[in-house]
Amino acid sequence: MLLFTPGPTPVPENVRQAMATVSIHHRTPEFEAIFRQTREGLLELLATDEVVMLASTGTGAMEAAVSNLCHHTLLNINAGKFGERFGKIAVAMGLEKVELCYDWSTPASVEEVMAALHEHSDIDAIAVQICESAGGLRHPVEEIAAAVKAFNPDIMVIADGITAIGVERIDVSHIDCIIAGSQKAFMLPPGLAILGLSSAAIGKIGSGRGYYFNLASEIQKQRQNTTAYTAATTLIIGLLEVLESIKRYGGAGKLYCDTARRAKAVRFALEAIGLHSYPKVPAKAMTTIADADATAIRTLLKEEFGVSVAGGQDHLKGKIFRINQMGLIDLNEMVWVLNCIELSLALLGRRPYDATASRIFNEEYFKHKLSPKEQ
Ligand SMILES: *Cc1c(COP(=O)(O)O)cnc(C)c1O
Repeated sequence: MLLFTPGPTPVPENVRQAMATVSIHHRTPEFEAIFRQTREGLLELLATDEVVMLASTGTGAMEAAVSNLCHHTLLNINAGKFGERFGKIAVAMGLEKVELCYDWSTPASVEEVMAALHEHSDIDAIAVQICESAGGLRHPVEEIAAAVKAFNPDIMVIADGITAIGVERIDVSHIDCIIAGSQKAFMLPPGLAILGLSSAAIGKIGSGRGYYFNLASEIQKQRQNTTAYTAATTLIIGLLEVLESIKRYGGAGKLYCDTARRAKAVRFALEAIGLHSYPKVPAKAMTTIADADATAIRTLLKEEFGVSVAGGQDHLKGKIFRINQMGLIDLNEMVWVLNCIELSLALLGRRPYDATASRIFNEEYFKHKLSPKEQ
């Protein structure tokens, strides 16, 4: 089965091999050296003042961010499952919340965020997804963050970058906390969460609630290349191999560039066979298609062609399907997925098969090579 869901993503063979080595103890110079290299790689990739790795899924890092950086009222942007989760975390922490709700296809507006801040002077943190994975939507996080900081630099800006880190370059200059998770663009099994923190955020940490997720002791330990509690050794060994794979590929810049090109070419190819993109502003992490036959298409992809793509949740169940664009993706696999979607439409009697999807993908992706004079 070809796994093309936007999380979990396939774990590359070299990463699986790296994680298949014998277990080592976490309080040893050998592991500390691995930890140091991984930490340095993350600091470079995230470009934040500090990073913390936690043994938890991404939601644990979301909880850590809220409990450490919000003491009164959280403003959360809810345009899907993950934005809604920030609000639920605030309530579970006994915090007040102000929620800005959007249709799952619609990005948050900077003006509405600012209006909420003017109206509720007790808001001390804002939480937003960079890519809201529920609808494959890109929020204008950098613009929101800059506006919030211009209004009041003490308001903490929490950005859930779980489906954005490793996908595109994020300007973190106005972001206090950026969150990543192992099973998305990092191509690892689930279980490791990462927080990138600003110096201002570090200043706030320690006075919040919780024990494991109160990051003060973790930060202190991780600066010494160890962890407060048992490190997720296997996943960290895997993460180091992932960071090295990205370097061997040509670096993060090349990965971001190829991801953007591929995501765009996939969208063009699917539009050329009559399909429509769901979000008003699509994120690069996934291609999200709105279609009345979404369930039938997914079933054919799985049963006839051995391709697994994700569906929608809640009110979007049966109405959308989502194709992963995160990680190091082989072009031959990507073209095969497009080809199978086109074949599925033919099997559903929607249009005759004529290989348009793969042709458009190739023409768009390789246009600089196919018509070099136009460049
Ligand atoms: C996957 C995901 C999460 C975290 O989910 P976990 O299951 O806890 O790892 C959070 N935010 C976004 C945007 C996601 O895509």
